[in-house]
Amino acid sequence: MNGFFIEFRDPLFGIIVFFALIFIIAFVSYWWGRLRSKEDHRYLERFLRSIKKLPARTQLRSEIGSNAVSHGSWLLIAESYVQNGDFESAVEIYQTLSELQHEPHRKRETLFLLAQTYFRAGFLERCETILLKILGRFPRTPQALKLLLFTYERMQAFDKAFSVLEPLDELGDDIEADRRYLETVRLLKNPDVDIKTRCERLSERYRRDRALTYLTFEYLFRHDPERAWRTLDESAARTVTDILWLLPKEHLNLDIIASIGYLRQLYSAKGIVNLAQNSSEFELDVLIKLRSGGYRGADLQFEYLCSHCKQIFPFSFHRCPQCHAIDSIVTESVLGKEQYETGNTF
Ligand SMILES: [Zn+2]
Repeated sequence: MNGFFIEFRDPLFGIIVFFALIFIIAFVSYWWGRLRSKEDHRYLERFLRSIKKLPARTQLRSEIGSNAVSHGSWLLIAESYVQNGDFESAVEIYQTLSELQHEPHRKRETLFLLAQTYFRAGFLERCETILLKILGRFPRTPQALKLLLFTYERMQAFDKAFSVLEPLDELGDDIEADRRYLETVRLLKNPDVDIKTRCERLSERYRRDRALTYLTFEYLFRHDPERAWRTLDESAARTVTDILWLLPKEHLNLDIIASIGYLRQLYSAKGIVNLAQNSSEFELDVLIKLRSGGYRGADLQFEYLCSHCKQIFPFSFHRCPQCHAIDSIVTESVLGKEQYETGNTF
């Protein structure tokens, strides 16, 4: 009996009880979490089976208000609607969630998701309104400021877009690429500047910054091919391989093609010149060999990689549609069957 009291008062006993309590609490929380998640899952399955279409606003409000499904699960449902392109249903959920949410930070997150959905759906004014609402309450929200910048850019509201750069700069964001891009796009959209002047300035800017390569040469080759050839360097030529490949024959500059190694390989592969017997680029090498063997049924096709998020697109871009990076386009050549019998002329 005495021994028992001694053990009971032993500090070791207290430590054992302490850890036992922690274990019991952790165990109960784990099983409660699993039970809750299973219940959520079952309810969600029943709910999704029961509806082919999202319920009316009032019913949705009562479903969300009942707390039968957690906030996180509603966000997942809304996200799946976004992924399927059903922006209307996603907007309904985000709007209802934000109306019923009173915790400021959660409300901000939900409103931001709503703004993102409006942006993806192309409702730019609504997106702007929601973002300004968020920034009115939380001015130091970089994600909201960035989305507002992209929104103004798409709206071609350049003055407003420039005004967003300042707070982003204050928050420590590197805004130089955005500033340069905005200045260039504004120049190309400015009706008071004629096309010749735009091309001159574009070429000057490229020589100075070596940036916005695809945007620069896409515009120059379309409006002033001579200037484009004079401005082109080997690195730019690789970025705009697709533009060079599809350029009408009368716009080619054979002297410059002969002076740049990559262009000699590219146009030998196309069969315009015969200045390279091989290439370090696999696709060009195969085409050169095929052409030297007399086969002309192969052609280059193109896809576009974002060097920042690694997403591949079937179309070219100046700002990545996925991660919004600027100047991240990498033109990838793919060997394919020749679509038209062009005889290498346009
Ligand atoms: Zn990207």
